[in-house]
Amino acid sequence: MRVLALASEIYPLVKTGGLADVAGALPLALAKEKVEMRTLIPGYPAVMAKIEAARAVHRYEEFYGGPARLLRAKAGALQLYVIDAAHLFNRPGAIYQGPDGADWPDNAVRYAALARAGADIVRGYDVNYRPDVVHAHDWQAGLVAAFIRFDGAPERPGVVATIHNLAFQGRYPRETLGALGLPPEAFAVDGVEYYGGVGFLKAALHFADRVTTVSPTYAQEIRTAEGGMGLDGLLRARGDAVSGVLNGVDVDVWDPATDPLLPAHFSADAMKGRAACRKALQEAMRLAPDPDALLVGVVSRLTWQKGLDLLPDAVGKLGRDNIQFAMLGAGDSDLEHRFRALASEYAGRIGLRVGYDEALARLIQAGSDALLVPSRFEPCGLTQLCALRYGSVPIVARVGGLADTIVDANEMALAAGVATGLQFAPGSSERLAEALSRAASLKRDAGLWRTMQANGMATDVSWTRPARRYLQIYRDAMRDARGGD
Ligand code: ADP
Repeated sequence: MRVLALASEIYPLVKTGGLADVAGALPLALAKEKVEMRTLIPGYPAVMAKIEAARAVHRYEEFYGGPARLLRAKAGALQLYVIDAAHLFNRPGAIYQGPDGADWPDNAVRYAALARAGADIVRGYDVNYRPDVVHAHDWQAGLVAAFIRFDGAPERPGVVATIHNLAFQGRYPRETLGALGLPPEAFAVDGVEYYGGVGFLKAALHFADRVTTVSPTYAQEIRTAEGGMGLDGLLRARGDAVSGVLNGVDVDVWDPATDPLLPAHFSADAMKGRAACRKALQEAMRLAPDPDALLVGVVSRLTWQKGLDLLPDAVGKLGRDNIQFAMLGAGDSDLEHRFRALASEYAGRIGLRVGYDEALARLIQAGSDALLVPSRFEPCGLTQLCALRYGSVPIVARVGGLADTIVDANEMALAAGVATGLQFAPGSSERLAEALSRAASLKRDAGLWRTMQANGMATDVSWTRPARRYLQIYRDAMRDARGGD
């Protein structure tokens, strides 16, 4: 099976979030299922610098305001198409925002171009290649589903759209329509029209044969008025064409027995190295060298979604529990400021590093007793999967993929010996404080805590199962496409 994926970022070439991890890992996992995946990405400077064996398969004299080339290329094991269009993508710095921190004003056109190039590959612009399925990730790729329909070829590939975060929808004023390259009739409720404007993600959800999101619980939540962010009606109308497939993690990269970024190594049968990582983490974060404290790690973007604004209040409610925090994150300056104040108030108990730091992220996973993820909503979440792998017990809000991946230490789960972490109701500092206290008291029973760690480390968080689910969804999409519209 040949699948053409479209993504606006892909690890290890360019990454701002979990989407890049998925776009980079899925082709490798699917190769084991005999799926040949090629991924179309924009030619940002970081991409142009890292691709290998690039050759032009098509030249556009005029492509959304300038000349462009469609390149076939590779990067390690990744098979790529790249749109080399300097006027759209050759810009320094962040990929979605200009130097002033605001979104590029022509993002609608930039990502319409990504989608158009994908539809052009479907039309045979690379003469040697026709995909059976097109897989569009997030709003940036969304219009490909519309272009393929309006191109109107008698035979078309199956189309799958994946939502990594419904909060980002690609919504633009009606006036942009003319610049996007869609026919006027596309502007309809049964098309790209969305609350009077143009909706990129809406178009994908409407035209794709199958829609996936990154956990079964999030797939349910986004069908409700509370979680649907304006798209719940459409998602409900799509019925069982919508499903949730959990993300995995690359278990070769995330392996505490070999991770080159760790000061000591360990595995479920040989945990001694973990104590060394815990000590190194306390030192790195200037925490008191207390062997008994519950050492709670945080690795997160600092945004409202992640619920970390509840933590300062929760810390005030902790009473006598012996809990330390090792926090790594960057994001809203207001939150960064609050955490700086908190860390200086609780010096020796709360360690903070503001920024993005891969090595420290791994040390936190390997050295903390528990990893806190108090999100208000969470499509899947990757950090709690890494925590399971590294023997840090996840303490998570009961939402989205967090609810699907962590077995709460309730009475029955403890009795059956299957708990892997703790869940709590999202959105309140009281519930968060209770969960932290509950974790502190569970940890006082060393045998029980050890069992939870071992259960987590034995959990299959690899891409093997998700890859098989995607293969099935691709087959379903192909069948739907053949069955007519
Ligand atoms: P999201 O995509 O919403 O940010 P995920 O949990 O799905 O959340 O994925 C976030 C990824 O980015 C994880 O791999 C996590 O370890 C990493 N990450 C987040 N913040 C940082 C940071 N400050 N430093 C290093 N890695 C980080």
